Amino acid sequence: MTFRADLHCHSTCSDGSMTPRELVLHAKEMDLQGLSITDHDTIEAYKEAIPFAKQQGIELIPGIELSSMEQGMSVHILGYSFSLASPVIEHFCTQHSQRRKERNRAILEKLANNDMPIDEEEILGAASVGRPHIAQAMVKHGYVQNIQEAFNKYIGEGKRCYVKGNAFSATETIDTIHQAGGFAVIAHPHLVRDKKTIKNLLKLNFDGIECYYGNFPPSRHQKWIDIATNKGWMITGGSDFHGDIKPNIRLGCSWVGEDTFRILQSHEPNH
Ligand code: AMP
Ligand code: FE
Ligand code: FE
Ligand code: ZN
Repeated sequence: MTFRADLHCHSTCSDGSMTPRELVLHAKEMDLQGLSITDHDTIEAYKEAIPFAKQQGIELIPGIELSSMEQGMSVHILGYSFSLASPVIEHFCTQHSQRRKERNRAILEKLANNDMPIDEEEILGAASVGRPHIAQAMVKHGYVQNIQEAFNKYIGEGKRCYVKGNAFSATETIDTIHQAGGFAVIAHPHLVRDKKTIKNLLKLNFDGIECYYGNFPPSRHQKWIDIATNKGWMITGGSDFHGDIKPNIRLGCSWVGEDTFRILQSHEPNH
């Protein structure tokens, strides 16, 4: 069997619909041999996932998807193979949790001002609470028909009830991943619409680019593969599986082979 590893997916610790254990089982079901769970701003999934993956024969590498800001634009950065015990990462995640709490409150306030009140308690539960949880509560209240409508009309970037929040800069985020001994990878550049943002990101001290992403066709991968190759950066990939929250994305729809997986698994980045 060809070795395939999905390096981008979310659990119930952030905005995925499967628990870390369910994700590991699902990886097996989808014939994957390797996995990285990249929850937004939390590594909570690994407590449960590490022993369970070992038991199930799935190879797991530490991962996280960190929210950051580059010149006012929201940018996601993937961290891999850092030390899960690193106090630097732990502190960073704690700060993100506080940032999210304040930002979520600000979003709920805007929603309330637009006659869509939601209690803060309704969205709590996950280690990392974000807009998808707010969108789910909006659906429950009947304010919108579905999650997509919540983003399109109210809480998507730039919409009426959107709040940017104070994320860390891309540079601070990369430095934190490096301090914890990890690789810093530009997440889904395919989704970054602003050319200037990409240009700025490519000047930073990244170790890789997520060239294979979600359901994007091979024609959309090549550009990023060429850029990563020119820079001597790693070429990574993953599905960005969220379960029911994004029902058209299958776990393993984008993946990396054994070579890439082993490099991430065994090498410390050079910087
Ligand atoms: P947050 O971390 O709270 O800013 O929420 C970001 C998450 O919301 C992303 O990782 C996606 O899962 C989801 N999301 C962001 N923008 C959209 C959108 N336009 N439509 C649907 N989901 C979105
Ligand atoms: Fe998400
Ligand atoms: Fe993302
Ligand atoms: Zn993601």
